[in-house]
Amino acid sequence: MALSPANRIEITVDRALCIGSGDCVDTAPDVFQLDDEDKAVVVDADGAPLEDVIAAAGNCPVAAIFVVGEDGDLYP
Ligand code: SF4
Repeated sequence: MALSPANRIEITVDRALCIGSGDCVDTAPDVFQLDDEDKAVVVDADGAPLEDVIAAAGNCPVAAIFVVGEDGDLYP
């Protein structure tokens, strides 16, 4: 597992679940972007403070965002 240098996390988006609502992008635009299929992708796991990344994951209406840290799951 490759953890990001600053936040020490790995973020995964389940593309099968993602409905492209953009909530994660609104919350943390330097972390998440929508690709050309309107699915969220992680552009920089350190693009926002950890609490903002967790908030973005919590804002996802279909719970498609998973955040793992050094000691295990951070979200959900
Ligand atoms: S908030 Fe969830 S459903 Fe919406 S774009 Fe982000 S990952 Fe996809």
